[in-house]
Amino acid sequence: MSLKPLTKIWMEGKFVPWDEAKVHVLTHGLHYGLAVFEGIRSFSTKKGPALFRLPEHIERFFNSAKVYRMQIPFSAKELTEASKELVRLNGLAESYVRPIAFTAYGAMGLNPLRSKISVAIASWEWPAYLGPAGAADGVRAAVSSWVRMDSRSLPPQAKCSANYANSALAKMEAVAGGYDEAIILNQHGMVAEGPGENIFRVKDGILSTPPASSGILRGITRDTVIQFARDQNIQFFRNDSTREELYTSDELFFSGTAAGIAKIREVDDRKVGNGEYPIASKLQTLYDDAVHGRNSHYEKWLTPVSA
Ligand code: PMP
Repeated sequence: MSLKPLTKIWMEGKFVPWDEAKVHVLTHGLHYGLAVFEGIRSFSTKKGPALFRLPEHIERFFNSAKVYRMQIPFSAKELTEASKELVRLNGLAESYVRPIAFTAYGAMGLNPLRSKISVAIASWEWPAYLGPAGAADGVRAAVSSWVRMDSRSLPPQAKCSANYANSALAKMEAVAGGYDEAIILNQHGMVAEGPGENIFRVKDGILSTPPASSGILRGITRDTVIQFARDQNIQFFRNDSTREELYTSDELFFSGTAAGIAKIREVDDRKVGNGEYPIASKLQTLYDDAVHGRNSHYEKWLTPVSA
């Protein structure tokens, strides 16, 4: 996806023109991977553009920062207001919003505690990350030879840029092999997640997803799906799956802010189930209705950006 400049990026408390939102090449976080970020989406609703589950994203942002001892020099309220204002200013109802906090220019050498923390929020237009196939027939996935880092090395529950080096290795391998997406196993050989998505499995009408302890980011879309399952009386468990349980699933899908709910039609060249996705399709419809404000039960998840 190439970026098309929008009017503004929020940087350090001010809205600056897109082309002026720059950092120095000696920015500490660029060298040592010390940046935490979020991915949020705005959707068009009858109340105008609205951000989906904004408080949960802001909370995760601060939690990621806490793990890395980063003091974000703005409050949750300030970042909430800035995100809303950004969507208003950029005038896109449907956009992807990316807050990032990073160790800034000023001190080199590893110790991040000597660096100031910079914060920015950008937004752009971003169609479903895995393309239209995710919503329709499903994507082709392959189990990666790369293993997910675990919480003793790089804590996966903190959304730190450094984690995405692991994700990028898996993504590149999948794409180079002719697949759409990777599925990454953890240090115990159990299914963890995709490079930028959580994963769900359906077997005999039971929905399951790997537990938080499996080396995953606790996805907000994952939580959304879990709440849908509860509300729909779909039987649900958090449990570990082996690689071969992926092959013998009736349905598989990814969940994530960028990807939405994306069906997986093949894993390692094995067709998933019989190609029918009754539960994933139902969840996709619920998600689509919730994010667009068409289901009053889930309106609580929307933050309209209008003043
Ligand atoms: N896992 C990883 C590694 C991710 O990067 C993401 C995207 N943030 C997810 C899962 C899904 O999280 P969410 O539903 O909050 O976007």
